[in-house]
Amino acid sequence: MITFLSGGTGTPKLVRGARKHVPDHAITVIVNTAEDIWVSGNHLSPDIDTLIYLFSGQLNTDTWWGITGDSFHTHQELNRLGVDEYIGIGDRDRALHIARGELLREGYSLTEAIQILSARMGIGACILPMSDEEVATLIRTDNGTLHFQEYWVKHKGTLPIQDVVRYAPTGLFAGEGVIKAIKNADRVIIGPSNPITSILPILECSGVIPALMDSFVIAVSPFIGNAPISGPAAVLMNARGLSPDSASTFSLYKEFCDLFVQDIRDPVDVPGSLRCDTLMTNEEKSAALAETLLSAGR
Ligand code: GDP
Repeated sequence: MITFLSGGTGTPKLVRGARKHVPDHAITVIVNTAEDIWVSGNHLSPDIDTLIYLFSGQLNTDTWWGITGDSFHTHQELNRLGVDEYIGIGDRDRALHIARGELLREGYSLTEAIQILSARMGIGACILPMSDEEVATLIRTDNGTLHFQEYWVKHKGTLPIQDVVRYAPTGLFAGEGVIKAIKNADRVIIGPSNPITSILPILECSGVIPALMDSFVIAVSPFIGNAPISGPAAVLMNARGLSPDSASTFSLYKEFCDLFVQDIRDPVDVPGSLRCDTLMTNEEKSAALAETLLSAGR
């Protein structure tokens, strides 16, 4: 079994490639839930949704969120009615949020809800929320403290950041099956996801780091030089006092990381790292990178 730790873009690109080599039932993905938020009464879990749509063959791989060819009638109508729904939610995408919201309101845990929906959608892989607790990444700005989605989607990441904090009122416990999925894996792969908003929340869940220390862990850098391939990772690293590069990313993972992978073009050198082409601009390139990581020796 291969276990991935994932956000909603970089690692899903790698998982897409891994599916060319490994059957879905041998893949487990532990997914960040610190970007989850209730929107218009329904439960949005952006990173989990990307994995659900990837494994059910519906993902819009131009944007890495939402369903290919989805319509936005409800979203447009809500905004016409004065509801400030600042996240563009597609009609079919919203159906999943409604279904999950209903299960959560009925008392199912997030893990159970994802298990039920995965079965209904014919998904063979195991998608595990990192935690069943309420958790959010909050961004402290001059305009106040905002949920990450508000910072990134509503304000388009334009506000200067003072700090990044985690809100976890009941504590951050690993979700059901998370520790087992790390311990039972032949290898754990931390894909090139945003260290601050996607991977650190998973690492903060109780028991995750000790389990990783006992496993064979490969981590892929999301940076080339001082820039991420996409998204706000650079400003978020800066806000945490870290340089936005592979060296700082490695410093966050070094206590449990057995093999660090950097792009061949990366001018920042992390001694001992494996160099390869990590730019997954299409499915073939994702498959090639996945093949390298699946066969890299201990
Ligand atoms: P989010 O939840 O949407 O922020 O997605 P992730 O955290 O999973 O991924 C975001 C990170 O993926 C960014 O920091 C990007 O630099 C990185 N990324 C996206 N595409 C690629 C790629 O093709 N190669 C590499 N190395 N990194 C990528």
